[in-house]
Amino acid sequence: MLEGLIASEGIAVGKALLLHEELRIPDYAIRDSDVKLEMLKFDAALALARDQLVDLKERNKDHETTVKILESQLLILVDPLFVGEVIQKVRSEKRNVEKIVSDVVAEFARTFSSMDNPYLKERAIDVQDVGRRILRSLLGQEIQSLDRLPADTIIVCHMLTPSDVARLDTSRVIGLCCEVGGVSSHAAILARSLMIPALFGVENVTRKVRTGDSIYLDCIHGKLYLEPSALEIDEARELGRQVRANFEKSLEPSTLTPVTRDGIEVTLRANISVPAEISSLTTFGASGIGLFRTEYLFLKSNSLPPQEEQYEAYRKVAAGCLPSPAIIRTLDIGGDKDLPYLGIPPESNPVMGWRSIRYCLQNADIFRSQLRAILRASVTKNVKLLYPMITTPEELLRANEFLDEVRQEFVEKKIPFDENLPVGIMIEVPAAALITDRLAPMVDFLSIGTNDLFQFTMAVDRANQRLSPMFDTINLPILRIIKHVVDQAKKFDVPVSCCGEMASQPAGCLALLGLGLREFSMNVFSIPKIKQLIRSVDLRDVNEIVAEAMGCTTTAEMRARLDAYVEKHG
Ligand code: PEP
Ligand code: MG
Repeated sequence: MLEGLIASEGIAVGKALLLHEELRIPDYAIRDSDVKLEMLKFDAALALARDQLVDLKERNKDHETTVKILESQLLILVDPLFVGEVIQKVRSEKRNVEKIVSDVVAEFARTFSSMDNPYLKERAIDVQDVGRRILRSLLGQEIQSLDRLPADTIIVCHMLTPSDVARLDTSRVIGLCCEVGGVSSHAAILARSLMIPALFGVENVTRKVRTGDSIYLDCIHGKLYLEPSALEIDEARELGRQVRANFEKSLEPSTLTPVTRDGIEVTLRANISVPAEISSLTTFGASGIGLFRTEYLFLKSNSLPPQEEQYEAYRKVAAGCLPSPAIIRTLDIGGDKDLPYLGIPPESNPVMGWRSIRYCLQNADIFRSQLRAILRASVTKNVKLLYPMITTPEELLRANEFLDEVRQEFVEKKIPFDENLPVGIMIEVPAAALITDRLAPMVDFLSIGTNDLFQFTMAVDRANQRLSPMFDTINLPILRIIKHVVDQAKKFDVPVSCCGEMASQPAGCLALLGLGLREFSMNVFSIPKIKQLIRSVDLRDVNEIVAEAMGCTTTAEMRARLDAYVEKHG
C-alpha cells in the first residue's frame, strides 16, 4: 500500500496506465556492415509514425487546428533536411540510429526555438513530438494515446501538468496518481473540477506500478493499493457507495440561503474551469460564477483556441447563470500551467516569470482576441471581467487600454456589448495587496486569490507536495494581509470577495467571515458544506473567535481555536 495527498476526493478501482515513461535511448557503436540494417529500422519507424499520424488526422478531421498541426508533423517525416541529416550521421558517426535520431531531433528543436518568428519557434514542439514518435517506434514502445484509452484507466505518472488533465478522456479515466504536485496546484484544481479522484505526492509510484496493473485508489484516506484482493475491492465498492450517499445527502440544503443565525447573508458562487460545470450550479446551490478559469480552453487544445470557440464558451457560461453574475478571468497561463504551443522559453522561476497578465500584455493578439470574445459574450449584461496577477497599477492601466481599444472597435463596427461591463482584478500578489488603496479606486471589484497570495507571501510553492504541511492559510501573515485588503476596499466602497481555496475550507471560511468578507467563490462540491456551516454560526461569535485567533502567534494555536469552533457548529 502506498500513501499520498488527496488532490481530488473519490474512489477508483481500475487498471494503471503509466504516462510519460522516460525513453531510454541506447547508445552504441555500429560496424560499416550494420549501417544498412540501421537504415531499414529508420525507414520502418518513419513508416509507422506516418501511419499513426494519418490515423490521428482522420480521427480529428473535424478539428481544423489539430489537422494543421498533424499535417506539419507529417511533413517533418519527409523533410529531406531532417531525414538526410539522420542518414548522413548514422553513416559518418557509426552509432545506432536511436541515438542519432535523438541527437538530430534535439539539434533541430534547438534551432527552431532560438528563432524570433513565433510560427517557426512553435515548430520546435512539433519536431520534438515527431521525434518521440519515431523513437518509440524504433524502441518498440507503444504510444500512449490519451484519446484511445481502455475503460477504467487510472493514470500513473511522475507529474501531471494541467494540460495533461485538460486533455483526458473523462469517460475512460477514473483516477489519477502522481509522484509530485500539491493539492493547491492547478492540476489538482482541474481534477476536482472534472470530478476525477486524484492522489498526488505518492513517492516512487512510477517505479512500483506498471501499465496494466490493477489499482484501488482510495482518495478518501489517501491510499493506493496495488493488485487489490477481492475483499479490498468489495471494501472499495462499499466505501464508494457511502461516499456517494454522503455526497447526495450534503446536497439537500442546496435551496437554502447561506445566512448566519444572526441574519447576515453571505453569497456563495462557483469557481469553474470547464464550461460544462455550469449545469451543476443549481445542484450545488451556487449563485452564479465567481471565477471562470478560462485556461482550460487553452490547455485542452493543441493550439490557440480561435475567438469564435472562446466566444461560444463564454456565451454558454454567461447565459447559463443568468440572472446571477459570471466573472470571467482573462488568461492566467504560465507558471505550472505551461502551454507548449505558446513557446514560452524555459525559465528558472516560471511561477514568478513571464506569465498571466504579464504575458497577455506583451502578446496583444492573444489578449485582444480573448477580450473580443468576452466582450461579445457580455451582451447578457451579467458578465464581469477579471484580470489575474495584477502586481502594479501600470499593468492595470495597460490592460484597460487594450479593453478600451476593443470597446472602441465594437462601437465603430456596431457590435453589441455591455457598455457598463464591470472590471476587477485578482488580489493575489502581496505587492497588489499592499497598495489596495491605490488599486481599489481604479476598479469595480476586487477578488482575493488566496492560493497565490499564500504562495507569494509565504514563499511556499503551491505545487510542491513536500511543502504541503506549510500550506495552511490559517496563518497570521495571511490573515493580516487579507484584513488589510478588506479594510482598504471598504474604505473606498469597492466590493471585495475571495475566490481562493481558503474559502472552501471550514476554518478558512470562518476566518474570512471574521475579517469582514461576505462573498466567496469556490469549487461547487464545497458549497453545500460551507452553506451548512454559515447557517449554523452566529457572526458575533465568529468575529470574537477570529479576533482571538489573530491574537495568537503560531498556526497551531490559531487553528486549534477555529477548528474547535467548526467542530461545535459543523
Ligand atoms: C488563487 O490564486 O487563489 C486563484 C483563485 O487563482 P488560481 O488558483 O487559478 O491561481
Ligand atoms: Mg491565482
